[in-house]
Amino acid sequence: MSFFKKLKETITKQTDSVTEKFKDGLTKTRDNFSNKVNDLVSRYRKVDEDFFEELEEILIGADVGFDTVMELVEELRREVKRKNIQDPREVQAVISEKLVDIYESAGETSTELNIQTDGLTVILFVGVNGVGKTTTIGKLAHKFKSEGKNVLLAAGDTFRAGAIEQLEVWGERVGVDVIKQGAGSDPAAVMYDAVQSAKSRNADILICDTAGRLQNKVNLMKELEKVKRVIEREVPSAPHEVLLVLDATTGQNAMIQAKTFKEATDVTGIVLTKLDGTAKGGIVLAIRNELEIPVKFVGLGEKMDDLQEFNAEQYVYGLFADIVEKEAAEEEEE
Ligand code: GDP
Ligand code: MG
Repeated sequence: MSFFKKLKETITKQTDSVTEKFKDGLTKTRDNFSNKVNDLVSRYRKVDEDFFEELEEILIGADVGFDTVMELVEELRREVKRKNIQDPREVQAVISEKLVDIYESAGETSTELNIQTDGLTVILFVGVNGVGKTTTIGKLAHKFKSEGKNVLLAAGDTFRAGAIEQLEVWGERVGVDVIKQGAGSDPAAVMYDAVQSAKSRNADILICDTAGRLQNKVNLMKELEKVKRVIEREVPSAPHEVLLVLDATTGQNAMIQAKTFKEATDVTGIVLTKLDGTAKGGIVLAIRNELEIPVKFVGLGEKMDDLQEFNAEQYVYGLFADIVEKEAAEEEEE
């Protein structure tokens, strides 16, 4: 069975709405990236060195990241040789197969959050201004709430104007309470309050927003350390997750931010937002392969239900949906 057919079968086992979300959210990337790959395979008559070089350019242009592209194309060369592939059109399936492989071989792929079965789970959100922390907290609160969990939010971004109000709007929309203090107050004090409230209300999950200023690494580290220390003192095993939010539309900048935060704090997972807003969705692979932190969620839009657990197969299907459908149908006929 071809890889496309297998992929189609795997996808079909999952909920249709998840497939739709990934497919819709990846429209821009698909239009850009897979059209270029389509064009490439139809222009070449044989798979030669020029073909691979053009492919490298396409991948780099989609923000896949230099090192990852080199690794990927090396794998492709080997596979094409091993299978003795002559027809460029046959390379398409191998490309998608290798994209899934490269994602999964980079280590832990579980998107599961470390949720405590008895007692409070504390999830801390970090990331620079504007990447989508507050929005993602709202979406995640909605997800937990709909699973029947008792959720509380902590308005730890006391720095940015309007940040507390923005979280409150999400709280109302989703139907969860927000623990806050005035603008300009010490975020660590907000966290202390929030943990106390969470305990006294028997909350299942406390999600903490933080300010995203990144004037320099020393300040960032100090602020995050202080916030974490307060949380840890009140709940010794917490924070159970530290989720770093990155904006997919910022490309290599997101990579730099990730490296900075990785040095400043123990990041347990990445949320990559605004995948719907970029034609360069290859950044997922770069982040995964070069940082070795699992991408736990992706943001595929601004609505409450536009946060999805990352899934490499859904992602690759979203990149090549039209070809996968066509090839799988042809194979069915044969
Ligand atoms: P914060 O400063 O990190 O808290 O970022 P915000 O949550 O305020 O988000 C900044 C902007 O990004 C807002 O306009 C959000 O609606 C938008 N945003 C966040 N996530 C997504 C996403 O997945 N897709 C799209 N299209 N927009 C998003
Ligand atoms: Mg915010």
